[in-house]
Amino acid sequence: MTQTWSLVLHGGAGTITPARIGGAAEAGASEALARARDAGAAVLAGGGSALDAVETTVRVLEDDPHFNAGRGAAFTLDGRIELDAAIMDGTTRAAGSVAGLTRIRNPITLARRVMSDSPHVLLSGDGAEAFAATLGVETVDPAWFAVTERRRQLDELVARGGNAFDVDMKYGTVGAVARDVHGHLAAATSTGGVTGKRWGRIGDSPLIGAGTFADDRACAVSCTGSGEQFIRVGVAHEIAARIRLAGDAAAIAAAAALSDVRALGGTGGVIVVTPSGEALWHFTTPGMYRARATSAGVRDVALYGESAT
Ligand code: ASP
Repeated sequence: MTQTWSLVLHGGAGTITPARIGGAAEAGASEALARARDAGAAVLAGGGSALDAVETTVRVLEDDPHFNAGRGAAFTLDGRIELDAAIMDGTTRAAGSVAGLTRIRNPITLARRVMSDSPHVLLSGDGAEAFAATLGVETVDPAWFAVTERRRQLDELVARGGNAFDVDMKYGTVGAVARDVHGHLAAATSTGGVTGKRWGRIGDSPLIGAGTFADDRACAVSCTGSGEQFIRVGVAHEIAARIRLAGDAAAIAAAAALSDVRALGGTGGVIVVTPSGEALWHFTTPGMYRARATSAGVRDVALYGESAT
């Protein structure tokens, strides 16, 4: 058993350029990414599990208003906030996910409880919240999630008469993937979806195999981007399948899946860890909020540029 571990996280991909972000938002997002990274890295460095690390990391980002997950989530067209999340254990391929939550402070924790405390994989809406009540999972008033900038994005979209995919492509979903010292992998993703979504729309994030997937035989993946295309490609499972069945290197598999998304008219990014501890990202947008830590001493945070590592 090697004592190596690695963690990669994202806070969404999109039109993330110095001109669009800059200043206070850049500093705030960078600080939150570093804080989330360090929280997850502490779990892994202490010999904790990949599952605990990804949940810990995502909870920090859910509570931070810079990202479209938990507090700071995108608004639906009718001014509500509906949250989706998923978590997966690469060792057992156990998974839990939730969709359309309106009152659960940390959707990723409820997703984990779906995995550990229910016979199901995906719970939605009122039923998911009734399940949360049986476990005493923390709830908040929906106003907790609302921040001014996201409301402004909805107002702008409505004023332009646009649809959910016109809004300035700053997705902001959060996710984490980890490889622990035992060689186990896990993935987690949490989101408010896309601004202006309607009719109970659910994106790729809570769909196992689309936005989130982990399999110790291949990799752990968390996605962000135009969810409809990510669902149609089955991005996270596609990357794992390419690695496991075709013998692709992780970077090749990630690039191929994102190029397939692009062929369907979508863009976005992925983060990946492999059983050997590779920790990488790939995106087809101008930027992606991202960070990484490894037992070899890597500690980085990046927002712009370089689409692959
Ligand atoms: N993929 C997410 C969704 O479509 C959006 C995002 O990545 O920000 O719900």
